[in-house]
Amino acid sequence: MSTICENLQIIGKRIRDAEEKYGREPHSVKLLAVSKYHPVSALQAAYDCKQQCFGENYVQEMQSKAEVLAKNNIEWHFIGPIQSNKTKHIAAIADWVHSVDRFKIAKRLSEQKPEGKADIDICLQVNISGEASKSGILASELPALAEQVQLLNGIKLRGLMAIPAPETDFDQQRKTFAKLRHLQEELNQQGYQLDILSMGMTGDMEAAIAEGATIVRIGTAIFGKRVY
Ligand SMILES: *Cc1c(COP(=O)(O)O)cnc(C)c1O
Repeated sequence: MSTICENLQIIGKRIRDAEEKYGREPHSVKLLAVSKYHPVSALQAAYDCKQQCFGENYVQEMQSKAEVLAKNNIEWHFIGPIQSNKTKHIAAIADWVHSVDRFKIAKRLSEQKPEGKADIDICLQVNISGEASKSGILASELPALAEQVQLLNGIKLRGLMAIPAPETDFDQQRKTFAKLRHLQEELNQQGYQLDILSMGMTGDMEAAIAEGATIVRIGTAIFGKRVY
């Protein structure tokens, strides 16, 4: 068995254990394999081990990998910063986009989705730690953006995504993820039906699951360290 396959089994077990420990429904947390900077062979190894969902951060990298892996039934998630001149390529390939942080991007994805392709599932990225350097909208801007995005055809607003500032303390990690959950709950109280919280990476996955993550985005623990 490949190392990647073993890692997937270990991560799968960690997810199931955390679901049980924190009172989550079994199999309510989906594993997104974040494969940026890793070669196509690594994705193929994971796919051969039944991993179907892959997350990529760079448009060209996703494009070339999608081309090489076209005969596989991969679900592509775009999770990186988005430049508006790249939306067309994202709309052509991605089944999911987690990193929508302005209306212009949502509108372009909506307009550029190829006819016949299923609606693109969207998460709004929230700058949950409030750092000036990180992408994502501020919590205060979320209601207005959600309202606009929700009206667009061709894309479907599913939930929220966050990349918190690095933090090793488990309780602090939980506090930050709880903020994203609360934002989702507030929107749902206003009538939205958001079912996705995209949060948790290799270093904070358990805390994210404890606070309601439905998609965890895991790179390092599956593929090893990234070589930039
Ligand atoms: C790289 C990346 C990940 C994966 O991070 P790991 O710490 O390697 O698990 C998750 N989400 C986003 C948005 C990323 O850019």
